[in-house]
Amino acid sequence: MSPPGSGEGAAAEAGPRLVVGSSNPGKVREISALLAGLPVRVCALSECGPVELPEEGDDYAANAAAKARAVAAQTGSLAVADDSGLEVDALGGRPGPRSARYGGPDLDDAGRVARLLEEIGDRPEAERGARFVCHASLATPDGRVETAVGVCSGRILAAPRGEGGFGYDPVFVPEGYACSMAELSADEKDRISHRGRALERLAPAIRAALGPGGGA
Ligand code: IMP
Repeated sequence: MSPPGSGEGAAAEAGPRLVVGSSNPGKVREISALLAGLPVRVCALSECGPVELPEEGDDYAANAAAKARAVAAQTGSLAVADDSGLEVDALGGRPGPRSARYGGPDLDDAGRVARLLEEIGDRPEAERGARFVCHASLATPDGRVETAVGVCSGRILAAPRGEGGFGYDPVFVPEGYACSMAELSADEKDRISHRGRALERLAPAIRAALGPGGGA
């Protein structure tokens, strides 16, 4: 499976602006890379002046759509936003859409990982199944929204490994791999990740929104 812009050369420097609707630097980096090659000028939210993101609920699709719609309306540009999370079988699918808020506002990524490992305890490998889920939405300034979903299945390690990625990557081993998501190169993560898969599925809607002449 290849990223949306693959085979089209380097990131487009011209074309309509598309704003990445996230304040999470890890996500912004990945979404920007995944959109490179589409005929748009990818901009981070931080380059757009003050933009209010909506409060998040417990529904990935609704959260992703609300974020993309809010950013498109406030910037007057196309916007892509995602809502994603880690679903752990042994925890009944938690933390899920609450992954960023898991353990409360005082924890950082490392703190959330430690808390997760503590909650999972010493369950054997067969009981450590999990998946990353990503709903990615494209919104136009006039309020149209398209959403696509990507899933990456795997299992939770007993201890963190690797320095790459962000969030729960150091304790997540994708199916078919022996290393953690944080030990993969950025390109390899993009190729197999929930976010890479969701954006690959969203790419036709982005192309359609650009129209035949490339304008939004
Ligand atoms: P939200 O979509 O902004 O609500 O946050 C999603 C949260 O899920 C992130 O803050 C991470 O904790 C987790 N998450 C989502 N995608 C990834 C990923 O690719 N790697 C590691 N953690 C992720």
